[in-house]
Amino acid sequence: MSTLRFQAIKETLNRKPVEVNEPARRSEIFGKHVFNKSAMRQHLTKDSYKSVMDAMETGAKISRDIADHISTGMKEWAIQNGATHYTHWFQPLTGGTAEKHDAFFELEMDGEVLEKFGGGQLVQQEPDASSFPNGGIRNTFEARGYTAWDPTSPAFIMGTTLCIPTVFIAYTGEALDFKTPLLRSLQTVDQAATAVCKYFDKNVNKVNATLGWEQEYFLIDSALADSRPDLQLAGRTLLGHASAKGQQLDDHYFGSIPSRVMNFMRDMETECMLLGIPVKTRHNEVAPNQFELAPIFEEANLAVDHNSLLMDVMRKVASRHHFKVLFHEKPFAGVNGSGKHNNWSLSTNTGVNLLSPGSTPMKNLQFLTFFVNTIKAVYDHEELIRSTIASASNDHRLGANEAPPAIISVFIGSQLTAVLDELEKVTDGKLSPEEKTDLKLNVVGKIPEVILDNTDRNRTSPFAFTGNKFELRAVGSTANCANPMTVLNAIVANQLMEFKEEVDSLIKNKKLKKDEAIFNVLREYIKKSKKIRFEGDGYGEAWEKEAKKRGLSNNKTTPTALKAKISKKSIKLFEDLNIMSKVESEARYEIEVEEYAMRIQIEGRLLGDIARNHIIPTAIRYQNTLIENVRGLKEIYGKDFKKIAKEQMIIIEEISEHIENINKGITDMTEARKKANNEKNAEKTASAYCDKVKPYFDDIRYHCDKLEILVDDEIWPLTKYRELLFTR
Ligand code: ADP
Ligand code: MG
Repeated sequence: MSTLRFQAIKETLNRKPVEVNEPARRSEIFGKHVFNKSAMRQHLTKDSYKSVMDAMETGAKISRDIADHISTGMKEWAIQNGATHYTHWFQPLTGGTAEKHDAFFELEMDGEVLEKFGGGQLVQQEPDASSFPNGGIRNTFEARGYTAWDPTSPAFIMGTTLCIPTVFIAYTGEALDFKTPLLRSLQTVDQAATAVCKYFDKNVNKVNATLGWEQEYFLIDSALADSRPDLQLAGRTLLGHASAKGQQLDDHYFGSIPSRVMNFMRDMETECMLLGIPVKTRHNEVAPNQFELAPIFEEANLAVDHNSLLMDVMRKVASRHHFKVLFHEKPFAGVNGSGKHNNWSLSTNTGVNLLSPGSTPMKNLQFLTFFVNTIKAVYDHEELIRSTIASASNDHRLGANEAPPAIISVFIGSQLTAVLDELEKVTDGKLSPEEKTDLKLNVVGKIPEVILDNTDRNRTSPFAFTGNKFELRAVGSTANCANPMTVLNAIVANQLMEFKEEVDSLIKNKKLKKDEAIFNVLREYIKKSKKIRFEGDGYGEAWEKEAKKRGLSNNKTTPTALKAKISKKSIKLFEDLNIMSKVESEARYEIEVEEYAMRIQIEGRLLGDIARNHIIPTAIRYQNTLIENVRGLKEIYGKDFKKIAKEQMIIIEEISEHIENINKGITDMTEARKKANNEKNAEKTASAYCDKVKPYFDDIRYHCDKLEILVDDEIWPLTKYRELLFTR
């Protein structure tokens, strides 16, 4: 066996679970490393505390001298809790998180040592971050970007560093990160939803979007993962024959968690608790070595930060336990990939979940208002939603019969379908007293019971209503949730504004009562958005055909899907809502298109390297052994050898055929790459990588995988699927 493969397996088999220190009660440590309300109360003056609270609740500005006070309190707290450095923590468009640490420690002119961290350092910084993607907004030679404090997401300590969540913006004002547009979208949906809530409850003055993500991931022993160049550089296997046993027995799903993994989870969850990430559930997923983790939902900005932070924490803790976490959407062919369901809702300052049916007809009319408006928004902007979940890695999942298809549709269950069907029949204009009573008693009034009974959950739907929230299920496991959340908030905000205008106009111009007007507008929305509703099997071919008839988009690849980001409609939407300017939308498109091409380029190179430098030489070695054998047989049996060496000679030929196909595939793919690189612009390059380069992958892989089952296991260089997925 190749030394690397052999050693990796041996190392894995010899591993012992790493001991963990877990507190007896998690509640004791929850948020201990967060500058949360209780820490603020202790370390800030009353004025400073109030100022932070105002900033969190109403977005009020924090004055410079208050910022000085806050920074002093924050620094004291951080030092008491072991921090020596501080950093602005932000989410550049690379998808990860970025930090640049500065020590609190500073030397004065007279050699005196001071611990310094003032309001200036808290509020704004200028990281030398010219290498982050900016889609041409920020000329590298010109102005740099700066980071600015986001007081709505509390500072925290990671290791010995105080991390201050910030936005990242160019000096010319354009956003260079995920957080800025998200914050703008949250503000917009707050305003739009609050205005609509006033129809039902005058006390509502703030609406928060809420997000509860579910993170799927694989855990592979680090020695095994590092033994494969593809896992090391691309985060997924580019080749490898399926293991005889995969997930077909379903014996991993919800099974007992192996003890090494359990220790990792306990350790990681302890870290999460300290950081205030409210992790709650953990379980095995469908594929071997695949797991899921979900927190209690939170206000969306915080939840997005927590997901980014979690991915970072997981990587760090995993390495303590000699694991590598794979966040890739499809690390292994033939077994399920990973996603990140985004559960989304809206909730008011009065404690009402707007997507949860209530106990009175009026509350249910409010529920229906938000429910129907969301469906309508998704219908109008389905392509934009599809674009936010597009990535090279998620392309493997969408439409691969394990994740929702690339077609966006909404599932609401049979009972709510029945309710909407009833509402569709509401009379145009004024309603008779009988009709009103009937609606109140028999349609709107019945919803809570209905939902409780509604247990059929459609797992194949990309956007499903699950009782008190919508669940966007097509998000990739590597994604930053900010992207889909920004779009969802934006389209719903836009829809709610339109709704309010229409209802107000009916009240004013047609002299309808408020609830009559609402029923009238909802009826039209239900009719208009009917095509997006689909209750059947989203994986089936029949749906693809049906969706096409309905005029729904089916953008199967990232380059095609991304185009919706810069459609006139999307650009206008973001401009109208002041969430992103045209320049910002275009820059983001550019960055994603470039990233797509780069990822396929890297995979193409890797596949070429592995196939030529690992697979072909090994196949030739084995072929030589066979040739040796045939030669020996000829020596012994003379001219009769052909009968005896028949099978060996067949294998010798098969090996040659596979080698030929692999070699030709790589040569042609390399040619296609060259052409793709020479395309006029990033968009064309990405399309060429998608349509002209990527198609070679499957064929090259096919022949490599065939060789894997022909060639002597003793000399096979790459750790096999069985070993990656089942060695413990
Ligand atoms: P599934 O059956 O899809 O695995 P789970 O029960 O595991 O569902 O996950 C549900 C997720 O939905 C959790 O992360 C939870 O925090 C989240 N959630 C529940 N209510 C809301 C809400 N009102 N807003 C946003 N997320 C929510
Ligand atoms: Mg889910």
